[in-house]
Amino acid sequence: MTTFKELGLSPAIQQALDELGYEDPTPIQEEAIPELLAGHDVIGQAQTGTGKTAAFGLPLLQYLDPADDEVQAIVLTPTRELCIQVTQALRSMAEHLDIEIVAVFGGAPIRSQQSQLRSGAHVVVATVGRMMDLMSRRSLVLTAARFVVLDEADEMLDLGFIEDVEKILRMCPSGRQTALFSATMPPPIQKLAEGYMYDPVTVRITPKTLTVDAIQQAFLEVPAREKAARLVELLKIEEPEQAIIFTRTKIGASRLEKTLKDKGLDVKALHGDMSQGSRDGVMIAFKDHRVKLLVATDIAARGLDVEHVTHVINYDVPNSSEIYVHRIGRTGRVGRTGRAITIVTPAERDEIGRIERDVNTTIGEWESPEDRLEHAPRPRRRERGERRRREAGEEPAGDPAADGASGGESDGTGDGGKKPATTKLFVNRGERSGIDEEDLRWALREGAVLPDEAVHDVRVLHRFSFVEVDPDQAERTVEFLDGTKLKGKEIRLEVAKN
Ligand code: AMP
Repeated sequence: MTTFKELGLSPAIQQALDELGYEDPTPIQEEAIPELLAGHDVIGQAQTGTGKTAAFGLPLLQYLDPADDEVQAIVLTPTRELCIQVTQALRSMAEHLDIEIVAVFGGAPIRSQQSQLRSGAHVVVATVGRMMDLMSRRSLVLTAARFVVLDEADEMLDLGFIEDVEKILRMCPSGRQTALFSATMPPPIQKLAEGYMYDPVTVRITPKTLTVDAIQQAFLEVPAREKAARLVELLKIEEPEQAIIFTRTKIGASRLEKTLKDKGLDVKALHGDMSQGSRDGVMIAFKDHRVKLLVATDIAARGLDVEHVTHVINYDVPNSSEIYVHRIGRTGRVGRTGRAITIVTPAERDEIGRIERDVNTTIGEWESPEDRLEHAPRPRRRERGERRRREAGEEPAGDPAADGASGGESDGTGDGGKKPATTKLFVNRGERSGIDEEDLRWALREGAVLPDEAVHDVRVLHRFSFVEVDPDQAERTVEFLDGTKLKGKEIRLEVAKN
């Protein structure tokens, strides 16, 4: 593991990083910082949450000359939220440097931004529209901007800013250094990079290295016409503390908000057709827990960093695996587990397999409401009491007389009282639910309190599994484990039919 010091950052910057509590560089920082410090143009394919701001921000700050009052660096951002976020991050990294960082964005009085620029700015962090405006008023000249960052370039593309971005790039010195950060690399962004960057080095944080382990993933296949109704049903059953529901389009988000509102749900929409003021209002209300459900488009939800989102629901299947990872990463934050449920129509069913392959994950089928009700988790009190007694050596495990169970399959087999050597149990989960042999052995040991020698065979198949246990342990195994959860998935057990 490389340290910040080894990356070649100055002591003043290292001090700020210490104060920020950044101990080690993140992977994107480890890769991008040396390239940028060496003067190369860099394409960083990384999303929010990877530490990308510091990846471009630290080399940018290191290269500035505090004695030069011109605008030496610009960072272009697609949204006002990101503009403010990046400015704050850069300011904290520049804590011990004599550097002025000014944010310019729409929706705020242009005059005060003009006066800040007049007072001197080494770095300008800007939204595209406001930068164009300030340039046309000659309040901003970019002739000395030798470090240019395009942050979340794909989002600028989605918002229709690419032509303006090109105009801005043409106003910057041709010998500048350019860094482009983007979660995805659609062809127009590749073209932009080819046209405006010099021999760029690409550093990539692939979805595979993003952790989705803390997130329980499932998909629900429904006919297109029933999507809204099934979503309402799903929300009733899942009872999210807070959920973000993603739609592909702005109009889709508005429509769904209305449908859910009509059903009496506590919901707000967040999309690009809303005024900046109402977007801010919705974000704040959601962050403050005053709204339970947020229906959002990918773009609108980008700047949203909320800690207690328990559920992400993909109402529309995401266009790419990168977007999938990005969306579901909104739940399961800071050591919590979250649930991510993707709704697909039969025609979109293959998309799940594609995401599973790309992200190297397993997305099991969501349980239907009936299954859940029938297999509601059993009270665990008895199990804990049993375990405690066993640990205290008070009684042998699974003594049929002690827990009132009869001996599984051996009972009623009618073969003259001769017990079969083992009883085979069927488990409704298999590899495709992300469960392996070790998980099942763990469940038998910890959940059903079976000694290892009572477990004879565990076989995990694609959709389900079989376990063979001592016949007199079968019933209690079913009793203790049926309807409980393993790796976040509800498991059902029954004695296997021949
Ligand atoms: P970003 O991807 O730039 O939005 O950063 C995501 C979060 O990670 C921010 O809250 C940063 O403050 C934090 N962060 C960035 N780099 C590091 C690091 N090296 N160590 C710890 N936290 C970091």
